[in-house]
Amino acid sequence: MTDEERQDASRDAPPNAATPPPAAPPRITSTLLVAVALAGALALLAVAGPAVSRGAGSWADGLVGVGTGELERLRSVHGPPAEEDAARVTAAAADFGEGADLEVAVLRGHAAATFVPMVFRSLGDGRIEPDPAWVEAHIVEAEVPLLEGTVRCHERLVPQLAGALGELEERGLGDLIDPEQYGGCWVPRHILGDAGRALSLHAWGLAVDLNVDDNPYGAEPVLDPRVVETFERWGFAWGGHWRTPDGMHFELLELRDAPREPGH
Ligand SMILES: [Zn+2]
Repeated sequence: MTDEERQDASRDAPPNAATPPPAAPPRITSTLLVAVALAGALALLAVAGPAVSRGAGSWADGLVGVGTGELERLRSVHGPPAEEDAARVTAAAADFGEGADLEVAVLRGHAAATFVPMVFRSLGDGRIEPDPAWVEAHIVEAEVPLLEGTVRCHERLVPQLAGALGELEERGLGDLIDPEQYGGCWVPRHILGDAGRALSLHAWGLAVDLNVDDNPYGAEPVLDPRVVETFERWGFAWGGHWRTPDGMHFELLELRDAPREPGH
């Protein structure tokens, strides 16, 4: 599979794409939800400052992603550079050249504040060109169990990816991952390759596609539940749970040093 095919294979629409936000769990009252939403908005304002306006995927959209267990999914929002991005943009502009139309992406959700914002320019076809300095600083090449060659991912994803795959190998479940069907990790593009959408977590190197031929976007996933369970304990969210399933897709949900205990 070529890199180009890998990019095409990987879709990763968000679970709420073209659908309303998930219904609140029955135990949570609407009052509490409003309080949570308000608290989130206030926290966001406190962090980002009122001057920030983030184009596609406004900050209000960030509140829609709540709902994977108790953790808010990571998601990328972006827009024109804000005042506090000035130094980052100036540094990136030296690499991009004069007149480049630069945007800044930030992550929202669990542990989002630990990820450095990314300056990028859209290439107009759904792909983006990230600031080379950001790539140099955060995207690494690594060998991980069960996959052939190397993967290119965000440095923060690698230990958990290696952990999940290593655990499958140790438990004798390595055959459940087909190295021939590895679909890639860091792929600088928008969700669904659609320039009108937010950046994919693949653009951050924070998502990985496995067994892609068996689990095409939108089809009922055929991934073994033990794979899913293992990745979830290592801090990943699985696209196969989404309303439009993306069974090949695992993305970082939670930064962890070690997996949760089975059953938790
Ligand atoms: Zn994916």
